[in-house]
Amino acid sequence: MEEIELMKKMRKPIIEWYQKNKRELPWRKEKNPYYIWLSEIMLQQTRIEAVKQYYERFLRQLPTIKDLAEVEEEELLKLWEGLGYYNRARNLKKAAQVIQEKYNGQMPKHYNELIELPGIGEYTAGAISSIAYNEPVPAVDGNVLRVISRLVGSKKDILDSKIKKEFTQTLKGIMPKKYAGDFNEALMELGEIVCIPNGEPLCKKCPLQEICVAKKENLTAELPVRKQKIKRRKEEKTVFLLEFENKIAIRKRENTGLLANMYEFPNVNKKIARKEIETILQNWCLTGNYNEKIGTHHHIFSHIEWDMIGYKVQVDSINKEFIWVNKEEILKKYPIPGAFVPFREKM
Ligand code: SF4
Repeated sequence: MEEIELMKKMRKPIIEWYQKNKRELPWRKEKNPYYIWLSEIMLQQTRIEAVKQYYERFLRQLPTIKDLAEVEEEELLKLWEGLGYYNRARNLKKAAQVIQEKYNGQMPKHYNELIELPGIGEYTAGAISSIAYNEPVPAVDGNVLRVISRLVGSKKDILDSKIKKEFTQTLKGIMPKKYAGDFNEALMELGEIVCIPNGEPLCKKCPLQEICVAKKENLTAELPVRKQKIKRRKEEKTVFLLEFENKIAIRKRENTGLLANMYEFPNVNKKIARKEIETILQNWCLTGNYNEKIGTHHHIFSHIEWDMIGYKVQVDSINKEFIWVNKEEILKKYPIPGAFVPFREKM
């Protein structure tokens, strides 16, 4: 059967399955476009279970688009702390400001308007317009690509943008008008809980098992094909917890680039041995006593990996280069990126 015919055939069973089996999630309680937008942005790169608490706290503090448009950047980053990819949070605010100015505070309804907003790409525009307003446009993420690849038995590389475009176009042509939102959510949901990425898919529970090519031809372990590998630059870092009378040194990162405007513990771009600590302290106009090694951490960003080691040092005085703050304040007020959190836990 042709790909397009298979995709048409899947619509009814997958929508019915979704309507019966969908999980109760906080952002599914009502079709509020702000809530859907926020959840979709948070869910990029983060698991549902982890997102729930962030989502609820965020909305408690910023319940409307207006609140988001007006929030201070530091408060916003603190709310986002731990989710990573902090430009997502900055873009949320920028987009909220555009919505305030251009759309009178109301989230625009159409895909073509949504995609013009900062931080909203094809997937998110499709998700918001279809889920909140039932506009028949696809929302194609990794889950959807996996389900479709397996369903039609495609051996094409789903990391290739041309292939993603192809699938998106085909889906666009078969979107069910009455249930566009449910259809998109059904594909994502199936990819998350049945046609799963790691381990064997749960075909016996799948509403598409009768028509799925991968299942029929025993290809579920090989599909989807993912060829492109991301090459990440490796960097070493030594992180210092410098302590002076219950105060710890932090500093603000540059206002552009990776983790812009976040706070970090002082660090140097190489792994140093214990005997070199003194020299580093001198460079910062400090003296002190080595206290303990506080562990190692490997942190992966989209294009860089940090191989980190940490030391705790009691210093004899403070300097002007760093901000010296109480431990409680660091936890409450300052947004610290996830890469530094394992060291923060050793305060
Ligand atoms: S039958 Fe199996 S492989 Fe096919 S879509 Fe369903 S879970 Fe995925």
